[in-house]
Amino acid sequence: MAQCVNGAARCLCITFLLNLVCIVFPFGYAQAPVVVALAAITLGLAFSRRLTAKRNDFKVAKFFAVLHLAVIMLWIHFILGYFGLAMNARFNAMVQYADRVVVRDGGGGCCSSIDEDPVLYEITNKTEIAKFNEMFRFSTRQMRCRCCGFPGIDWWRDGKRIAVMAMHHGKALRVEHEGLDWRFTAGSRRQIGEWLKDHGINSTEGGPLHLRCRNGRVVLATVAQQWAASHNGALPTIEELREEAGKFIRSVPTCPSGGEYSLIVGEDGLLDVVCSAPGHK
Ligand SMILES: [Zn+2]
Ligand SMILES: [Zn+2]
Repeated sequence: MAQCVNGAARCLCITFLLNLVCIVFPFGYAQAPVVVALAAITLGLAFSRRLTAKRNDFKVAKFFAVLHLAVIMLWIHFILGYFGLAMNARFNAMVQYADRVVVRDGGGGCCSSIDEDPVLYEITNKTEIAKFNEMFRFSTRQMRCRCCGFPGIDWWRDGKRIAVMAMHHGKALRVEHEGLDWRFTAGSRRQIGEWLKDHGINSTEGGPLHLRCRNGRVVLATVAQQWAASHNGALPTIEELREEAGKFIRSVPTCPSGGEYSLIVGEDGLLDVVCSAPGHK
């Protein structure tokens, strides 16, 4: 028995470097490191009887063998997401019958009403929905952050929302009412990030676009109010407003969706800045 363990340890030790190379350069085959480790163990067991070496040599071999196995475990956990199989299954069960997917300019619904969030992208084609769902693979659960995420993603069936979710910082998905956030595998994270980017959505910075736009407009409206007060009630043009705001803030707010700002006098007589982008109230 000890002989077998020594044999396996020795082969794992010898292949450690090879496997590190496989992890850094997967050569298009993500499972390669696992295959190498299993092959090393099998070979080690098979040829363990021929081994002759000093006891101390095996101690070193065992140390590197354990290190090797630890690296492989981390690899299959974070990169391949093997331990997330149950989460993947749960996700699939939630979304598999969806006939419509909506990517919203919002989050999980804690910062704005999900019904009023502008729609960024919509998928109704069955094949496209299946492909979209396949991108979501998880490795583990993680503590929830305090933001409400961006973008929000909803799955619909027969005109009803069957799942409300939101991406968090490009790394995790928060499934509403599910406790912890679900962390993507490295591959899944890259794939989803690229998909969103191809559809003009940057999931890693800022929050919902219409909320960022609103925050910027509140700042501009305050500056406009002050400008009017010091100019006998005259209204500034948008250019004058920008120039004035530039004296107080380093980057003058613009609409992140590319909308145009204009200044209006609200019903209450106060100045307000409105945006021309759809859904930017
Ligand atoms: Zn977050
Ligand atoms: Zn806007």
